[in-house]
Order: sequence, then structure tokens, then C-alpha cells
Amino acid sequence: MRNFVIFLLIISSGFLAIFAAITFLRRKVSAKSSLFLSGCLLSLTIYSFGYALELSSNSLSQIMFWVRFEHFGIQTAAPFWFLFTLHQTGNGKWISKRRIYLLFVIPVFVILAALTLGGFNILHKNPRFTWIGPFPIFSYDFTVLMVVSVIYLSSLLIISTLLFTKLIVSTSPELRRQSVLIWASSFVPWISGLLYVFGLSPSGLDLAPFGCIVTALIVAVGLFKRNMLTLVPLARDVIFDGMRDGVLVVNKLGMIIDFNRQLKEIFPNLNNQSIGKNAVDEFSQYPAMMEVIQNAPVDQNNITVLKSENAEFYRIKKTNLSDQNHHLIGEIITLYHYTEEKKLLDKLQILATHDNLTGVFNRRHFFWLVEQEMARQERYGGNFSLMIFDLDSFKRINDVYGHLAGDIVLKKVASTCQNELRKTDAIGRFGGEEFVILMPETVLEMGQQLAERLRSIIENMIFEGLPDEVRVTASFGLVSHQCLKNVSLEKLLRDADQALYQAKNSGRNRVSIFEPADLNPCT
Ligand code: GH3
Ligand code: MG
Ligand code: MG
Repeated sequence: MRNFVIFLLIISSGFLAIFAAITFLRRKVSAKSSLFLSGCLLSLTIYSFGYALELSSNSLSQIMFWVRFEHFGIQTAAPFWFLFTLHQTGNGKWISKRRIYLLFVIPVFVILAALTLGGFNILHKNPRFTWIGPFPIFSYDFTVLMVVSVIYLSSLLIISTLLFTKLIVSTSPELRRQSVLIWASSFVPWISGLLYVFGLSPSGLDLAPFGCIVTALIVAVGLFKRNMLTLVPLARDVIFDGMRDGVLVVNKLGMIIDFNRQLKEIFPNLNNQSIGKNAVDEFSQYPAMMEVIQNAPVDQNNITVLKSENAEFYRIKKTNLSDQNHHLIGEIITLYHYTEEKKLLDKLQILATHDNLTGVFNRRHFFWLVEQEMARQERYGGNFSLMIFDLDSFKRINDVYGHLAGDIVLKKVASTCQNELRKTDAIGRFGGEEFVILMPETVLEMGQQLAERLRSIIENMIFEGLPDEVRVTASFGLVSHQCLKNVSLEKLLRDADQALYQAKNSGRNRVSIFEPADLNPCT
């Protein structure tokens, strides 16, 4: 019997050592978790190996030797387990070098105390042993230090168990199933340890090493079987909830299965009761989400953008969720945080379509707008007018008052004209001091009225920051087309330019209208 128990303990410590090594080698997968767990397993190896040899001892001095040896394991297993738990339950932020050292202050002190010699051992007062059945059972009088140690180690284990419990309670049912075993097994060592400390264990045997072995086996089998999946789900909550992207998991019936914390930030109406509800109902206030949930194909590349109540932007994408056998079990809808990209894109879009100096459309974008308008008109009919205007003798402004003064004039002219236009009109900078205005749904007479108004506004414009005598005028060329069949953009601009040339030639500061050779182009 004695040999069997000793044999069992030695075999177990061998397993523990192997698990400790494997976990240590796994540290690349999840560095800190693995290190802490491997530390814990190494401590347990020392503990159970020492205990095996303690049980095989025949004298007090041999027993004392192994008890001291065991304390290297006993005192360090709980702090390591505690650190492992902190990491696994998403409290890794708490861990700092300083705190790790602090956690080991009491254990190191107790180990040193255990090392004090023989009858003067300050941890085990009055050490002795008695044969209970086949076992040499070590006993001693409790010391203050021993009580401190027991309370300290038990507290660490209790806190660890509570942290795991909290995680188990708050996690989703699927993950709970996966981690409940680890959680339950974490009770074993400290319950068995307490039984021993209070003298309730059979034959006075210390059950803690056996308890630890059970736990270690469960954890290790979990590691092997699920390739760390049993632990990863715990880490998963940390990652899942820490993400800046919102994630929604929906099953095949369209029911909400899971969502992360960020999704709740985006949609404050979500709560624990939302799990199991129909996703479409829960997101009825958000058309962009409804659209994706109901209609969007999976892995689509066109982007649905959602602006949340806190003015953040998200890109919504749907992905299939399959089980290990590649059976479709649901969908994952991810809301990628998109605010920065959106802002950048908006900025780029403005840069790409607007003129730097004046802020009106640039030439390229303006041409695009005119082409759109021409296509629209060709299809639906109607009319539009286009004018080009050029500031008169602008070179003189630059020459007399400097280039910066010229810039001020250009900016003011552009912004004032822009404010005079209707929303549907568009103004672009054609180049230098030449601007173009597109007026959809505007007949020639209306266009002429606007040109006249702008001409007079420019003529009377005063420029802040420049001498009072700085004045400009502009010449306008106007074209209107009702029947655009076979008319190109180039032709249109040439016509407008010709009218402008005419305005310049007939004395500047005036509006000139292009007269088509064919007076009735629509027939
Ligand atoms: P006209 O009445 O015949 O149009 O005479 P003009 O002097 O306006 O004609 P011209 O086209 O010869 O001169 C245009 C001037 O506009 C030349 C150039 O120095 C000035 N210019 C072009 N772009 C800018 C600009 O971005 N800033 C400033 N300050 N001046 C510009
Ligand atoms: Mg000019
Ligand atoms: Mg010019």
C-alpha cells in the first residue's frame, strides 16, 4: 500500500514534469499564460515528488529534508496559478513585474523559514512523526507563520476560483460548456489541501498533491485534446470583448447567439436579453444593419457604412460561420471600425475633386459633372446652361499688388460666386483666373440673368486686407444647349470660350452669348 501510493506520486510527478515542459514549450502560442501555468505545474512536480519521498522516509531527519524540499513547490504553486488565472480571465492588465515579485514575498519568506534547521524550524514547531498504518505521518505544532501561509495561499486559490466563476457565469453558453471542467477542477486542490491542514484526511495523508494531480491532468488533457481550446475560449472573451470592431453572431434561424462588448457600445439597446432574440427585430432601428442581416451576400466587397449614435463609422461585413465539419451553422456580422479611414477618405475625396486655392471643384471633377449632366439631359430632356468667366487684366493685379494679393482676389471671387449659386449649380476653376459654372435646368435667359448678377457683384467687390483701390471685373461667355444630340463636351466648352473671347474683344466686363450657326438645332 505504501509503495503503491509512493509509486503513484512518483509517476504523477513525472507526468507533471512532462506537462510543465510541454506547456513551457507552448509559450509561443500564448506566452504569459503558458509561463505561469508551466511554473505552476513545475511547483506541483516538486510538491508531489517531495511528498513521495517524504512518505518513503523512515526517520524524522529524512522527512524534514523532504518537507523542506516540498515547500519550494507548495509555496509557489498557488501564486503561479493565481497569475495564470488573472491572465486567463482577462485581468492580465493587473500583472506587472513589481506585483509578481510582491506575490512571491510571503512564499519566499516561508520557504526560508522552512529551511531553518531541525528543532529550531520556525515553520514547523515541535516536528515529529507517527506511523499511521503504513505511512510515516509528519506532524507539528501550528506556528503563526504557518497560519499566515495557509491563509495566504488559500486566499489566492479562492480568488482564482472566484475569477473563473465570474467568467463562467458571464460567458456565453457554448463557451461555458468548454470551460466548466477547468473551473470545477480548480476546486479540487484547495479543498483537499484544507482537509489535510485541518486533519480531516484519511490516514492523515496530505491529499493536496493528489488533488493537484487531478487538476493538472484535466487542464493538460484539455490542452492536448482541444489544442489549447479549453483555455483559448477564456482568452477569447478577452480578445472578443477588447476588440474595437463590433461582432454579432447569428445562427441559421436568424437568432442572436453572441455579441461582443463593442457591439453593445454601438447599439446601446442590446443587452443580455437580446441573446436568443431575432436579430432583425433587435436591429429594427438600424436600416444598414437590417439590410446586411437580411439581404447582403456573405463576404461582399461593397461596403455598407453605418454611422453610430456616437458618430463613429463602421463598415459592416457578413461572413459564414461553419462548424468543424464545414456545415453552415450561422453568420458572423462584423462591424469594422472605420472612422479614421472614413475621415481620411473624405479628405482625399475633397483633395481629388476640389481646387486647392479656391475650394471650388477642380477642372477634372467639373468636367465629370458636366458629362453627367449631358448624359442626364440626353436621356430625360430639359435644358442646361454653362458659362465661363475670366477676370479682366488680372495680370496687372499680380504685377502691382503681388501674387498673394492675386490669390486673395481669386478666393473671394470664387467663394462669393459659389454662394450666389443654387444648390444644383456647380462652379469649377478652369485654370488660372478662369472659372466655369454649370447650371442644370436653366434656360439661356436665366443663365444670362445669373451671369449679369455675378458680373455686377464682381465689379463692386471689395477685398479685405487689400488696398481699397483693388477692384476687378470679369468677362462672361455663356452657352445653352437644349438639344445635345451629338454634341461633345469639347464642343460645348469651345462654344462658351468663343463667347468669352467675344466679350473680351468687345471691351471686357460684359456677358456674351454664344450664337449657334444653326439657329434651330433641335430639328
Ligand atoms: P485678360 O483681361 O485678357 O484676361 O487679361 P489677363 O491679365 O487676366 O490675362 P492673362 O491670361 O494674360 O493673365 C492671367 C494671369 O493670372 C496670369 C497669372 O499670373 C495669373 N494667375 C493665374 N493663376 C493664378 C493664381 O493661382 N494666383 C495668382 N495670384 N495669379 C494667377
Ligand atoms: Mg484674365
Ligand atoms: Mg485667363
